[in-house]
Amino acid sequence: MDRTGGTRKRSVVLVALLGAGLIAVAAALNVSFIVENWRSGLLLLLGVASFAVLIGGLVLNTTFLIREIRKSEQHHAFIHAVTHELKTPLASIKLYLQTLQRRDLTPDKQHELIDTMLEDSERLQLTIDQILLAGKTGDARRVDNPTEVDLSDIVDECVLLAGKRHHFVNGEVRLVDRVPQGTFVVKGDRDELVAAVTNLVDNAIKYSGDRVKVGVELVRIGARRVAISVRDQGIGITSQELKRVFRRFYRLPAALRLRVHGTGLGLSIVRAVARRHGGRVYAESRGAGQGSTFTLELPLKSS
Ligand code: ADP
Repeated sequence: MDRTGGTRKRSVVLVALLGAGLIAVAAALNVSFIVENWRSGLLLLLGVASFAVLIGGLVLNTTFLIREIRKSEQHHAFIHAVTHELKTPLASIKLYLQTLQRRDLTPDKQHELIDTMLEDSERLQLTIDQILLAGKTGDARRVDNPTEVDLSDIVDECVLLAGKRHHFVNGEVRLVDRVPQGTFVVKGDRDELVAAVTNLVDNAIKYSGDRVKVGVELVRIGARRVAISVRDQGIGITSQELKRVFRRFYRLPAALRLRVHGTGLGLSIVRAVARRHGGRVYAESRGAGQGSTFTLELPLKSS
């Protein structure tokens, strides 16, 4: 952990200790006040009420402070992650360009360097798109100009692109059942839905380690809803963390430990897109090492 991380941890502990100490003092005063004044009814009632308010205020204040420190901790981690995500591909592109400029390389070698630079620029583009989309979906509640979007189209496209981007050739990411076009149509923003599904598929790949086996499925839920499920057999998520993963900037310790690159924005974007379309997203996992399933549920276009 870096020095600022350690300092922030100390601040949380300090605030928590101070809060707990003050609450204990207020509670002790309250008890002694009751013992002293139990005979004079009204004064006792007034005193108990004001102590209750005081203790409540202290509890709220402490909780608020701890939450704010945690938020600033996540902000810091986010800035660090984004800087890394922007600097790494840029540095790599610069290095390859300098190599191309200085050395006389064979055409094959030149193509190899150019391909790597294209991949790096795509990584840059993805990070920038992610930040822009987080800004866009963060404020508004509904999609601006909804159009009819065929989900089987979107799922096909995302699976195909993920396969290409990661150079998979053995069906590491596959559609569980292909549904005919036009079966599941929703009203919404195509680009946002593509970004949401891409995020889920990319995460499933990123958090699978070396053994990537991802299944994407499109299923009807009752009469009016449809679900896109993305299932992996990767590092899994503990039950306490299943809800937290959707918080903005939040990254699980396992992701940091395994040094999986990311910004902690992806799932908060998926959740915002789901809400903007009148749907929801949730995660399921049997625990660490047991894989995860993320499901994006959306209302079907009413006929
Ligand atoms: P990022 O992947 O950029 O860290 P996300 O918002 O997409 O950010 O995900 C938040 C966190 O949720 C990740 O850091 C990771 O710890 C966890 N997570 C997301 N998808 C999966 C998955 N399929 N399996 C295990 N953990 C996951």
